[in-house]
Formats: sequence, C-alpha cells, structure tokens
Amino acid sequence: MQTIYMDNNATTKVDPDVLNEMMPYLTDLYGNPSSMHRFGGQVGSKVAEARLRVANLLGCDPDEIIFTACGTESDNTAIRSALRAQPNKKHIITTRVEHPAILSLCKHLEKREGYTVTFLSVDESGNLNMEEFKKALRDDTAIVSVMWANNETGVIFPVEEMAAICQERKVIFHTDAVQAVGKVPIDLSRTPIDMLSLSGHKLHAPKGIGALFVRKRLPYRPFMIGGHQERGRRAGTENTPAVIALGKACELAGLHIQDENTRVKALRDKLESGLLETVPHSRLNGDKEKRLPNTSNISFGYIEGEAILLMLDQLGICASSGSACTSGSLEPSHVLRAMGVPYNFAHGSIRFSLSRYNTEQEVDFVIENLPKVIENLRELSPFSADGDDGASCATPRVTE
Ligand code: PLP
Repeated sequence: MQTIYMDNNATTKVDPDVLNEMMPYLTDLYGNPSSMHRFGGQVGSKVAEARLRVANLLGCDPDEIIFTACGTESDNTAIRSALRAQPNKKHIITTRVEHPAILSLCKHLEKREGYTVTFLSVDESGNLNMEEFKKALRDDTAIVSVMWANNETGVIFPVEEMAAICQERKVIFHTDAVQAVGKVPIDLSRTPIDMLSLSGHKLHAPKGIGALFVRKRLPYRPFMIGGHQERGRRAGTENTPAVIALGKACELAGLHIQDENTRVKALRDKLESGLLETVPHSRLNGDKEKRLPNTSNISFGYIEGEAILLMLDQLGICASSGSACTSGSLEPSHVLRAMGVPYNFAHGSIRFSLSRYNTEQEVDFVIENLPKVIENLRELSPFSADGDDGASCATPRVTE
C-alpha cells in the first residue's frame, strides 16, 4: 500500500541530497572538529560551511548561529538565557498557543520558579491582539517569546512588528520559528528579533539537530555547561553529521521556498476546498490568509479526530489530530480551545501538512476517500448535529 504522508509539521522526510551530504561524516570522516589534527580539522571546516548555510537562509552572521539538539533545546536555551542575564526581571510574555517547548517551560517557571507569565489570547481565527500585547509589556519584562507560525493551524504571527515594539521598550524578543523556516521568507538583517529557534527535522534534515540564532552583543548565558564547543555557548561535542545535514537542508530550503509558496500552497488549497465543499459540518480552523502555505487544519463536526486518523491510516494516509505532541489524549488541543472552537468541532479536527514531496494524485486520493470515511463514522457516531444549538460554544461556521 502506498503511503500518503501529509504530516510534515510533525516531521519531514530527509532529503536524499541531505543524506548524501552527511553520509561521509557518519562513516569515514568521523574526526572531532575540535581536534588539532587535519583529520578533525576537515570536519571543522565542513561545520563552518554548515553554519554559513544556516546563516544565509536567515540573513544573519554565521557567528550568531549556535547548533543545538532540537527546537525544544533552542527554545529552552533562549528563555533561560534571557532570565539568567537579567536576574531582576521576573516577567515573561508568551501566547496561549505556543508549542509545549515554550508553554510547558513557562508554566513551570510560573509554578516553580517565581516568575509571572502573561499568556496572550488569540481570537477565533487564531490571531493575536496587538493592543493586549502592548499593554502586557512591563518594566520588569525579561523576554517576549512568540512563535512565528503555529504548528497546528499554520497561523502566522506578526513577529517582526512585535520585535520592533520590544526593541523600543528594550525587551528581549525571541521567536520559535520551527514551523516557519523554509516556508516563510526570513531576513534577520531587517528585523530586530533577538533570538530565533529552528529544528532540522521540520525542514528535511534528520531528527536531533536544531539551531538558535542569538543576535550579536545580546547578553547570553549558556544552558549546557562544559567544554568550549560553539565558542562556549553550547557545550558538548557537535553532532557533526547532523550539523552538516542541517546546513544542506537550509541551503535547499532557500531554493525550495518559492515552490513551497506556489505549488505546495496550490495543492494545500485544492485539498482544503475539496474537503470543505464536500463534507457537511466541516470548517477551517485558523486565519485563511495569514497562514503557512502547507498547513490546513479542518474540523469535521460530531466525530472524533482519533477515529478519523485510524480510518485514514488504513488507507495509508498520514495526518494528525491537533499537534503530534497532544495526540494520544482525548482532550481537544490547547490551540483550538484558545481559539474557542466549539467542542463538537475541536474533537474532530485534522491537521494536514504538506511538503515538496506531495503530489496532485495524492491530494485527489484524499479528496475522494475522506468524505466517505466521515460519512461512515457519522453513521456510527453517538453525537449528531440534530438539536445542537451551539449553546456550549460559539456557533459553528458550517459549510453546507
Ligand atoms: N516548536 C514548534 C512550533 C514545533 O512545532 C516543534 C515540534 O513539533 C517544536 C518547537 C519542538 O521541536 P523539536 O521536535 O525539534 O524539539
């Protein structure tokens, strides 16, 4: 059976060119880049090239890139660094819809470490309120951390505008750009963003590699303490094959970003309208325009997302209900709850996230088969649209 992979916000296929680039560093070229001998030194040069490639994609200086093990480490490092560099500032601003890499850390800091956190709300389209943000800024705000794009809905936040406001107020601004890199043009030379996190496995590099951009002269405190790797900013012998892979993946991401915003976006739009038009009681979650080109989050009312996923799995279709990290629990995702998506719809939400490897045939297959899946499940479902007055929640925007 063919696999139709539409879960690229969870993780992506390693690009064959990325694999080729890293392979020699898993086999013959295993030297330590910090060694004095030439055998290690050649690996060091390749790590420097990878750093340059990441910097080129982001429009920053290679010295501003620190390699980490994942997006989560980059996020944790950014927040911890800002707090340790400014011990008198005890306030953090973030949003209610961040990935757990930020959200759980902020909740922990509030509960266990004496910080106050403002969690900015979102409206029913998943957008922030800039007035609420400006009012939340305080003299003791240590850091504002706002994701560039949401992993569940794809909604894009105005992080450049927010960073400019923070710059005026002399507050550090960090963005979790794990889902944005490679899909949204980023030029850090033209925005006052202070720190930015990214993760290799979301852009066709392997798992276990990430990066953190830290603007020059920003006060910085390392998270990992040990050796002098990464110029003392992140201890631990570099994962050289993965670093080299990330460099190549960033180079390719720059070449593919146009395709992502045209061909992939067109496929996503075809999939989306094909489903919304044929399935009764279906609705799109998240702003239709200010959105990643590859992501579509659709709720199918009155059925469980988990049941849909199982049926799709039998057809070889991989998607996600909410975020991969929240799957496994029957609670609707925190993102959809923050947007006020009615329970009967939040439960039946499916995220499709495409990549450059998806084809039109795959999209057609999903459009042809998913409506039948929904129809079958609705016949079995104990919930129904009959008599639902929407009293427990906002009135659903149904498409029928
Ligand atoms: N931030 C966002 C927005 C994500 O989507 C993810 C992964 O799903 C992460 C952070 C965590 O990245 P990693 O899996 O590399 O730790």
